[in-house]
Amino acid sequence: MEEKTTPHLQRKIRDGSNAIARQFQMQSETNGNVEPNDPLGEETLFSPVKGIVHKYPNRVLWKTTYRCAAHCQFCTRVRQIGSPEGDLEDNDIASALYYIEAHPEIDDVILSGGDPLVVPQISMRIIAGLRNIPSVRVVRIGTRLPIHSPKSISSLYMKRLFKELQACTDNFQTYVLVHVNHPDELDYEVVDAIRTIRSYGFPVLSQTVFLKAVNDNEEALEELFKKLYYMGVTPYYIYRCDYVKGLEQFVCDIESEREIMTMLHKRMSGIALPRYIVDVEGVGKIPVPLGFWDVPDINHCQDYQGKTIQL
Ligand SMILES: *Cc1c(COP(=O)(O)O)cnc(C)c1O
Ligand code: SF4
Repeated sequence: MEEKTTPHLQRKIRDGSNAIARQFQMQSETNGNVEPNDPLGEETLFSPVKGIVHKYPNRVLWKTTYRCAAHCQFCTRVRQIGSPEGDLEDNDIASALYYIEAHPEIDDVILSGGDPLVVPQISMRIIAGLRNIPSVRVVRIGTRLPIHSPKSISSLYMKRLFKELQACTDNFQTYVLVHVNHPDELDYEVVDAIRTIRSYGFPVLSQTVFLKAVNDNEEALEELFKKLYYMGVTPYYIYRCDYVKGLEQFVCDIESEREIMTMLHKRMSGIALPRYIVDVEGVGKIPVPLGFWDVPDINHCQDYQGKTIQL
């Protein structure tokens, strides 16, 4: 995966944000020769048609493209990002729509990638198709464009796309999921871009990845989740960084992650706290237990002050 940033990110790196530099600048320690794997079995185990990952019975992930406005150096899909191979032809879109229609148990479609907002015309066609499938009740847009290039959110293409989604309200509910990892990312331009998305009436949620030397400390995450909460964005997930070959320098120690999330649970509102998840290869998302219970003994737990409670 080549290095790719945007003028917005470049400016923030110049202004001294180490958290952003580390996410987007190629690390010298990265071994460019390793062959990255497919840690979640997306291609091998769960893809019935091009672009679709069907792992959980009622929801599918649809990779609308492999392109992103900037390349996150820790990306789970490092093997694909930036490649034109992810571009969908009309017949790929038709096959995927046919698959979804033929599986009425699917009520929830997650547009992902790559970044679906980087290919608005493709996303428009997908949305127009999903609108005609009555079993689809939720469409989620997973994006990082507001962070990479906040100004793009007010482009004409985006406006058309959001209006189209708004017009689908009777068919399905739209949610927007923004990937954000550090409070440095939430400057006033980004806040404004997210406000624009919210002005169309879509609930906005966030997703975060635990990243070594970026956000693996209580202060950074507390500030991030509070900033999101204050602006009306619900923190949804925080993931363990996937075990992708070549990305080891980003993976944090699971015990310190657990400790950080446990500490945050002691002092923050539940609304501001994302679910802490590990995505296990070939399996799926599993919640990581926090330090409140002495598993496997579930007759005792601890309160927020650390006092043991007999149940
Ligand atoms: C994460 C994911 C989903 C969505 O999971 P939710 O828990 O509903 O957010 C769906 N499909 C795949 C393949 C995923 O990785
Ligand atoms: S925006 Fe998402 S898909 Fe694109 S490079 Fe970053 S993490 Fe990967």
